[in-house]
Order: sequence, then C-alpha cells, then structure tokens
Amino acid sequence: MAVSKCTRLSGTLIKQTLDSVDSILFDCDGVLWLGDQAIPGASDVINLLKKSGKKVFFVTNNSSKTRKMYADKLKSMGFTVNEDDVFGAAYCLAMYLKNVSKLQGKVYLIGSNAMRQELENVGIQQIGVGPDPISGAQLDWANVPLDSEVKAVVVGFDEHFSYMKLNRAHQYLNNPDCLLVGTNTDTRLPLEGGKAVPGTGCILKAVETAAQRQAQTVGKPNHFMYDCVASQFGLKSDRCLMVGDRLDTDILLGSNCGLKTLLSLTGVSTVEDALAHQTSGCPERLQMVPDYYVDSIADLLPALQG
Ligand code: PLP
Ligand code: CA
Repeated sequence: MAVSKCTRLSGTLIKQTLDSVDSILFDCDGVLWLGDQAIPGASDVINLLKKSGKKVFFVTNNSSKTRKMYADKLKSMGFTVNEDDVFGAAYCLAMYLKNVSKLQGKVYLIGSNAMRQELENVGIQQIGVGPDPISGAQLDWANVPLDSEVKAVVVGFDEHFSYMKLNRAHQYLNNPDCLLVGTNTDTRLPLEGGKAVPGTGCILKAVETAAQRQAQTVGKPNHFMYDCVASQFGLKSDRCLMVGDRLDTDILLGSNCGLKTLLSLTGVSTVEDALAHQTSGCPERLQMVPDYYVDSIADLLPALQG
C-alpha cells in the first residue's frame, strides 16, 4: 500500500524504505552536524549504512570548504568517508564552469580560498581572493583596468565581501558575454538560540541587483548538484534517498530530481512547515513536502543494528 507523504519514518517502515534505495545523499549542516558539533549517533548511522552496502554521499551548499576539508571534518567526527563522495558547493561550481559553461578564461571570484582551490583543481584561474592588488583607498576604481581574460563572475560565501568587490563584479558584468554564476541562494544561516547570519544568497542578490541580471546557481535546490553525483556514480534517481533539514533546498532538490525524501528535524525546517506546504494546495509548495521525517537520523539506528 502506498504511504502518504510526510510520514514519520519508524518501526518496520525504516527497513522497508532503506531496502528500496541503493544510494543516500546527506545534507551536512543540520543533519550530520550543527556548526562544529556532530549530531549524536550520525556517524554510527553513516558507517552502518556503508557497511550494509549503501552508497553514501555528502551534499552541502556551504562553499567555504573544499572536498578535502569536508572529508577531514567528517573523519574527525568519526564518519567513514572518501573525498570523492563529498559534493560541496565550491567543488560543484568548479565542475559547472568546466563541464557545462566550458569556460575558456579566468573568473573574477567573490568567495573563499576553498573556492579558489577547487577552481584551480580543474584548471581555472581566478582573480579576486586574497591580498588585492587594487585595494588602496585612494584608487579611482572606475579607472583601474579590467582583466580582459575574465569571462565569468563567480559568487560564493565571502566574509570579506565589500563595496569594492561589488563594483568590480559590476564592471565585469557590464560585458553581456561575461557569465554570472553563484554557488547557492540561501539567504539566512541559522545559528543556535534562534540567531542567524546572512548567507551567500544576500551577497549574490547584491551582485544581481548591481548587474541587473540573474545568476545561474549550482547548489540545492538546483538539480546540478544531484546531476554531479549521478553522472559520476551512475545513480538511478528512483533508487536514491535525499536526507536534509531544509524543505526549500534539500527536499525541493529531491523532488526536482525524482528522489525519495527524508526530513530530519535537527535543523531548520519543522513538521509544521511541511504540513503548511501540504495543505496549501499550491503545486510548487507541494514539491517541498518530504515523503518521510525523523526527529534525527539517529532514529534509523535500530533498523541498522538489528
Ligand atoms: N552556506 C554557508 C556559508 C554555510 O555556513 C552553511 C552552513 O553552515 C550552508 C551554506 C548550508 O550548508 P548545508 O547545505 O550543509 O546545510
Ligand atoms: Ca542543511
């Protein structure tokens, strides 16, 4: 019998659901960890899933780390992980520029050193991060020559974002052939105690507003992040489960790509949020209703230990 959407995953339904998939994609912040704090039991779940023969992938919109940095973080928290199974926004953006845009030239980067590293790993040169040769306060920005080899402006999380960078991006984007690509559109990054900080989406909006055009993005809920995993590992979408804590990124990505979806309540979204989408009657909002939910992925442990 078909189970209705937004069902608590418990009892025999856990094993039944896990048996119905070969691969599981895990969002990171809010599912496996909260900042630098591992979610209790999460590493046991991942390690047991792998032991049982499932392929496990790590998909995160956070562009401030390379694949290697994520693999190191996961290992330090007790997760068994292979760097090739990590799909961070910085890596996916580099893959997009190389394989989809087929970029020939440099990028002007608003982002992190991790993004620079991932771009360099695929042979793309960047300018913009690190000590800036044009950062003297007396300079007349409008008259500093542009680098004619720059063919794209790339935007990720940048804690040193400034008016100068915005202006520079704007100057490059005056050329209609210069691409504008962002990692993701998350506007708020929640912290403990109901606090939050502005996310990459705010920086991207500033650049889009200045350039008067919309960026292409690669992170969740855009299907590119799933396509990256699927193409490298030959995944079949109907044999995959997407696990996340956000309805508007993780669950929507899963729905967009035809995956089964599981909401973990250890992060941003609540069951009430999901039910509000479900009862809205709006087709777009229905895409954000997960198939299943759990209080934490640790709820999967009994089915894996049995
Ligand atoms: N972007 C940034 C800069 C972040 O710090 C985070 C979370 O820490 C995210 C995005 C969201 O990451 P995830 O997709 O793993 O929830
Ligand atoms: Ca998350």
